[in-house]
Amino acid sequence: MQNVKRRDFIKLVGSAGAVSGLTAMGIPTSVLAKASGKVVIVGGGFGGATCATYLKRWGPDIDVTLVERDSEFITCPFSNEVIGGNLELKDITHSYDGLKKRGINVVHDEVTGIDAGAKKVSLKGGQELAGDMLVLSPGIRFIYDRVENDTKVEESMPHAWKAGPQTMLLRKQLEAMNDGGTVLILPPPKPFRCPPGPYERASLIANYLKNNKPKSKIIIVDSNTSHSKQKAFHAAWDHLYGLGEGKMIQWIPENEGGKLESLDPGAMSVTTTFGDTFKGDVVNFIPYQKAADLVENAGLTNKDGWCDVNQDTFESKVAKGVHIIGDSCVAGAMPKSGHSAASQAKNTAAVIVSRLAGQEPPEPTYANTCYSFISPDFAISVAAVYRFQEGSIKRVAGGVTPPYPEEKERFYKNEAKYTRGWYKSITSEGWG
Ligand SMILES: Cc1cc2nc3c(=O)[nH]c(=O)nc-3n(C[C@H](O)[C@H](O)[C@H](O)COP(=O)(O)OP(=O)(O)OC[C@H]3O[C@@H](n4cnc5c(N)ncnc54)[C@H](O)[C@@H]3O)c2cc1C
Repeated sequence: MQNVKRRDFIKLVGSAGAVSGLTAMGIPTSVLAKASGKVVIVGGGFGGATCATYLKRWGPDIDVTLVERDSEFITCPFSNEVIGGNLELKDITHSYDGLKKRGINVVHDEVTGIDAGAKKVSLKGGQELAGDMLVLSPGIRFIYDRVENDTKVEESMPHAWKAGPQTMLLRKQLEAMNDGGTVLILPPPKPFRCPPGPYERASLIANYLKNNKPKSKIIIVDSNTSHSKQKAFHAAWDHLYGLGEGKMIQWIPENEGGKLESLDPGAMSVTTTFGDTFKGDVVNFIPYQKAADLVENAGLTNKDGWCDVNQDTFESKVAKGVHIIGDSCVAGAMPKSGHSAASQAKNTAAVIVSRLAGQEPPEPTYANTCYSFISPDFAISVAAVYRFQEGSIKRVAGGVTPPYPEEKERFYKNEAKYTRGWYKSITSEGWG
């Protein structure tokens, strides 16, 4: 794997984007115009909304139907900003009107069943929708097997790992906490949605506490031995908040006693495999995760609970003509992120449009960037380009923001500006 400088990397990501542009893949527009058929997409999140957009852009005659349970989409990206008190929920809420204007049939209903062989889905409202191809991007489900009453845990120890009411509950608990309180953040073992997410959350909660409740502290009791962008996060924490026992942020990795054994929502405490018990005034318990129920019930998951796909086409390994993208699937070296889901969505749209036009799909290239705020004007990022090689997706180039103070403050401030630019661009691409 190559480490590259930002300027060169932007060129690489640009070329990955260009590969997603069909004309750059050498398929003439006249051929694409011949693509017609019906595609049903389940899930209007990062994967589903982006796939619908690109299917319609590249194959205007394709009948694209998107089924989404909720009437609006609230993004997990930037939800840590809401938890930290810097944004409101409405700032990260997107309507589906933009997709409708693009000519996509948006159906708000819950998919209750998938007939993968017939490429048909059944809706709670009683309707059935069939397509020549299906695209599934339903996200994740949470596994609560350490505790008996999961609803009670979500109420007292909110995960806030799907944005919406849970985000607001965690925010309200932080507002209600006294100065001098302890916030526990409990990241699940990998793999999980958004590998840097728990650590960005710790950063933005620390920013809130520093400005409002400076005697408080955060303990990250981590079921992992290492985490995403670790050096860059730790250097920035040390610089802005203080890192270590007795400082504002303390990180306890798995090998130093961070692995959870049990939870007691009544006592707001957690016990680790080392026998230590930690008590929090606010506890953010993020359960471990698997692919959404829907794909599990349809028999599309493997023994670990995730969907195996051919990583060049994202077609299910067990159901022909059914493409599974985003957090639900196993995508080689790509992390479970909104950016990854959108990149997989574009390549899947290219595969489907090509096949509906009677062409071979183009060679795929994928990209991901994950930005994380340390404070509203200090951010870090990890970015990579991926290619399909020897049967799976491999990371071929990329890099991480150098830890502070390897770069001047201005550098991290600019990263915060890029973070906001990234959000604007990915959400307008997805939802208009
Ligand atoms: C705190 C946090 C911060 C994050 N920050 C970033 C970030 O900065 N950058 C980044 O790239 N990623 C980030 N992510 C990760 C990102 O949110 C996910 O990886 C991304 O949403 C995955 O897209 P998806 O399409 O697979 O699923 P989702 O975006 O979750 O979409 C799934 C959709 O399917 C719908 N659905 C599910 N089941 C059904 C059904 N049966 N019927 C109808 N509809 C259904 C759901 O309502 C939902 O709208 C973050 C995640 C978290 C938790």
